[in-house]
Amino acid sequence: MKILSEILSPNICVICQRPCVEIPDHPCLCRRCLQTLPWRADRSRIEIGDITANRPDFYRNNKKADIFAACDYEGRLRRCLIDLKFYGRTGMARPLAAILARAIRCLRIDPDAIAAVPLHSTRLKERGYNQAGLLAAYCADLITRPDISELMLRVKNTERQSEQADRFARMDNLQGAFSLDLTKTRQLENLLLHRHILLIDDVLTTGATMMEAARPLLEQGAVVSCIAVASDHP
Ligand SMILES: [Zn+2]
Repeated sequence: MKILSEILSPNICVICQRPCVEIPDHPCLCRRCLQTLPWRADRSRIEIGDITANRPDFYRNNKKADIFAACDYEGRLRRCLIDLKFYGRTGMARPLAAILARAIRCLRIDPDAIAAVPLHSTRLKERGYNQAGLLAAYCADLITRPDISELMLRVKNTERQSEQADRFARMDNLQGAFSLDLTKTRQLENLLLHRHILLIDDVLTTGATMMEAARPLLEQGAVVSCIAVASDHP
C-alpha cells in the first residue's frame, strides 16, 4: 500500500519512469533500476592506451591521470545523459551524481577535492549551465569533499569533439584548451601540491578531454583521477 507522502509527491524513477520509493542516497532511482544499471564494475578503469603516443610533451614527470567510468553509455542511462546535456533537463543531475558517488565509493577513490571539466564561457552562455558542473556540485555533497570547479578554466573554444575524425584529432583539437584560474591558483598552489583531485565529466568517449583537462592540475603537482558517469569505451 502506498503511503500518503508517496501519493502526494511520488518520486519518478529517471530510468524506468515509474513511481518509486526512493533508496537512501539515490534520488529518483528505483531499487530495480539501480541494480540493473549497466555498471562497468571491473571494467571501470579505462585504459586510454597510446592516445598520447604522438605527444611526447604531454606529461611532465611522466605523471598520468587514472581514468574511470561508472557505467556503459547505453539504454535509458544514455537517454538521461542526453537529456541533461542537450535538453535542459537539469533535474537529471542529482540522480546521475548519485550514480557517480556510488562508483567513487565502490572504486575506493578517495579524493581531497573534486572539480568539473569546465565549459568554455561561450558554450556556457549558449547552454546556460555546465552539466559536468552540476554533477560535480551534487557529487561533492554526496562524498563530502570540496568542489573546486571554479578553479578550472576552458580557455580555448574548441571544435566539437564529436566532429573530430579520430582520437588523435580530438587530442590535437584540445591542446592547450584548459587552464587554471591564476588569480585563485596563487592562493591554492600549495593546496594542489600532492593533493588528489577527482575530475568529473558526464560522458567519456576517447578520454582525450579528461586527459587534457587533467594536465594543468598535474602541472601544479596534483594527483589526478577522472571519472565519468558513462562511457562507450570498450
Ligand atoms: Zn526504475
